[in-house]
Amino acid sequence: MQKTIAKPFTIKGIGLHSGRDFQAVISPAPCNTGIQFRRDDVRHCDYTRITPYNVSSTQLATTIDCGGLPISTIEHFSAAFYGLGIDNAFISVSGTEVPILDGSAKEIIECIENAGYKEQNESRKVLKVTSPVSIEYEGKTVEIEPSNNFEITFELDYPHPVIGKQVFTYVYNENTFHREIGIARTFGFKREVEALWSMGLAKGGSLDNAIVIDDEKGVLNEEGLRFSNEFVRHKILDMFGDLALIGYRLQGKIKASKSGHHVNNVFARALLEATNSYVIEEEKESKKIKNEKKESPAYNSFNGNIAVSAV
Ligand SMILES: [Zn+2]
Repeated sequence: MQKTIAKPFTIKGIGLHSGRDFQAVISPAPCNTGIQFRRDDVRHCDYTRITPYNVSSTQLATTIDCGGLPISTIEHFSAAFYGLGIDNAFISVSGTEVPILDGSAKEIIECIENAGYKEQNESRKVLKVTSPVSIEYEGKTVEIEPSNNFEITFELDYPHPVIGKQVFTYVYNENTFHREIGIARTFGFKREVEALWSMGLAKGGSLDNAIVIDDEKGVLNEEGLRFSNEFVRHKILDMFGDLALIGYRLQGKIKASKSGHHVNNVFARALLEATNSYVIEEEKESKKIKNEKKESPAYNSFNGNIAVSAV
C-alpha cells in the first residue's frame, strides 16, 4: 500500500550553491500525490509533483522547476523518500535550495524515521521492466533489464588513487537502504572545489557536507570515510534520487557506468518513453513481511544481499 509520513517535520541547514540558510517543511500528503515541492518564499507558488521532465539543471545537483522557480539539490531528499518507501509527501522550501546537510541522505532519513509513516488506502504502482532499455551518452552508460528486484550495479572509474575503480551492487531493500546507501556522502576534489568557488559556485561546499580529496594528502575529512567505497555508494544514492522522479516503484536490474545527474535524467526519460519495455502493475501484497521486520531494530546487522567489489 502507499505510504506517507505520520506527522510533519522541518529540516534546516545551508544550501550547497549559495551557502545561505534554508529550511524545508515536510508534511503528510494524500494517496497519489507523489513527492511535491513548492517555494514558500514566493507568493502563490503551488506544489509541483516532481518528474524527470521538471528537471531544469543538472549542474552539480538536480534542480527542478517548480511553477517557473528553481529548487536545487533535491536528489538526496527524493532518494530518502524512495529508499524508505514513502510515496506521498509535500515539501515546502524557503528558497532556491534544500539544505545540503552532511552531503548524504542521513538526516532526512532519520527525520522520516522519527516522524514514522502511515499506510494509506491505495496500492502502489510498480514500473516492471519487461525488456532491456539502455542509453549511452558521452561514454557513460545506463541499462536496465527485467528482474524480480530493484537492483543497481554502478561502476565508477576516477583516475585518482583514493577512488580508482569501484563497482558495487545494491539490491534494494527498504530495511537496508539507510545504512548501505543513505549515509554515503557526496565527494569532490579540493582543486575542483576551489575552481567552483572562484566561479561563485558551491559557496556552501565544505568538509561538513562532502568528502573532499586532496591530490597529495588524500581524504581531508578528519573522520575519514564511512565505507571504503563510499564514493560509488553515493553515486547509487544519487541514482535513487534521480530515478525516484519517475514516480513509480521500480522493478528491474540496472547497470550504470560513470553516470551522473544529467545521464540519470536522460535515462529516466528514456525509460518512461520506452512504453513497450515495461508494464505498470499494482504492487503485490508482500508488505506485511517487510512491516514486521521494520518493527525490529532495522540497522543492527548486515544481511547477505550485498555484493561488494571495490578496488
Ligand atoms: Zn549526491
